[in-house]
Amino acid sequence: MALCKRRGFIFPSSEIYGGVGSTYDYGHYGVLLKNNVKAEWWRSMLQERDDIVAIDSAIIQHPRVWEASGHLAGFTDPLVDCRTCKLRFRADKLGDAQCGRKPSKRPGEGPDCELTDAREFNLMFETHVGPVVDSASVAYLRPETAQGIFINFKNVLQFARMKPPFGIAQIGKSFRNEITTGNFIFRTREFEQMEMEFFVPPAEAERWHQHWMDERMRWYTDLGIRPDNLMLRPHGADELSHYSSATSDLEYRFPMGFSELEGIANRGDFDLTQHAQHSGEKLEYFDQQTKERYVPHVIEPAAGVDRAMLAFIVDAYDTEEVEGRQRTVLRLHPRIAPVKVAVLPLVSKEGMPERAREIFESVRGRIPAEFDEGGSIGKRYRRQDEIGTPWGVTVDGQTLEDDTVTLRDRDSLEQVRVPVDGLADALEVRLTEPWRSPKLSD
Ligand code: ATP
Repeated sequence: MALCKRRGFIFPSSEIYGGVGSTYDYGHYGVLLKNNVKAEWWRSMLQERDDIVAIDSAIIQHPRVWEASGHLAGFTDPLVDCRTCKLRFRADKLGDAQCGRKPSKRPGEGPDCELTDAREFNLMFETHVGPVVDSASVAYLRPETAQGIFINFKNVLQFARMKPPFGIAQIGKSFRNEITTGNFIFRTREFEQMEMEFFVPPAEAERWHQHWMDERMRWYTDLGIRPDNLMLRPHGADELSHYSSATSDLEYRFPMGFSELEGIANRGDFDLTQHAQHSGEKLEYFDQQTKERYVPHVIEPAAGVDRAMLAFIVDAYDTEEVEGRQRTVLRLHPRIAPVKVAVLPLVSKEGMPERAREIFESVRGRIPAEFDEGGSIGKRYRRQDEIGTPWGVTVDGQTLEDDTVTLRDRDSLEQVRVPVDGLADALEVRLTEPWRSPKLSD
């Protein structure tokens, strides 16, 4: 968290007014990292396949959407209050919660509080549309992006002429009035989701559920997450949502323990059937060839952008001693690193800054680059290590003689001499090469 703030990834929101709990703003490198995470998700959904299309639906939808989806009645968490310390907790997540007055018992045993009985608390944020605040104007900020996909099923079917199996994918903000937030950006009230609804013939649902569990696992490991830190945990019967016949949580070993990173659910025909009933529209597929009419079943991989970012940062964070000095480094996969290459003059004289600036300008159109001339070279390398920049190009005295530069590798610290001519090509090649975390033991 300290690194995220120090290096401009993530700031506590409204800090100059004393802050608002569990709300964060993303700074420059946070925006770049987040954009890269989202771009990689889009790449895996759209570019690498041809059976998924994109959608971007509204945050405020017709209130009946939430009636049909079951959120109005059932999107609740059990809330308990403490009679003495007055804190509020989620009854199903008491684990490491702490009482506000009494020192805690052993970790994981829950707070030593005098708890009330649990009552159900709806997590949807309510608002009013238009100038009149009455029951007719009630609307909700969407608590998930998924429903925006289901209500567009018919549009997409007609427009894209898709045939099951096919998917509709969306990235966007969601809002939940969580009872307890915390663990940095792990659980906040405003967050971004990356959700895809995959519509399949009912008989193929199980196979596609397995397919998406494998695919989503591969996405995280391809982007450098160490496999030992990931786990698929099937929901027990008591955990399953009302709509789901099977759900597995893809969990990551966060510093507070294994916790959900993404849910991959087999939702059956629940959503389309509900929306068909509530809207009066037919939401089904008619197969012209077999003359078969059916309501597709739905497989849903639902991920959080912020949680994914947290996992990438945690997994990449490393410290080591190099020549007697401590170094902090984010060993991010180059494809998600905010900046790919830093172009640095060795010293701020003898024409080196000017030449470095020219080189920077020649590569930045091809690959995200940064030019940095302030401070000692050691300090500048450390700064780039901390924001996870995989390569550093240094312009020195020799550059001015033979037009070569040193190319420094963030992880191995190896430095090789390469010609300026063809530098952008060489960096682009490196960016497409397979990568594995240097934190993995062989
Ligand atoms: P949890 O059990 O942690 O509350 P959930 O099962 O309610 O999560 P889903 O409804 O399946 O979550 O949402 C899909 C994904 O959206 C989650 O896996 C997570 O990555 C992200 N997400 C959900 N709620 C939050 C939140 N409050 N803050 C950040 N990300 C969230």
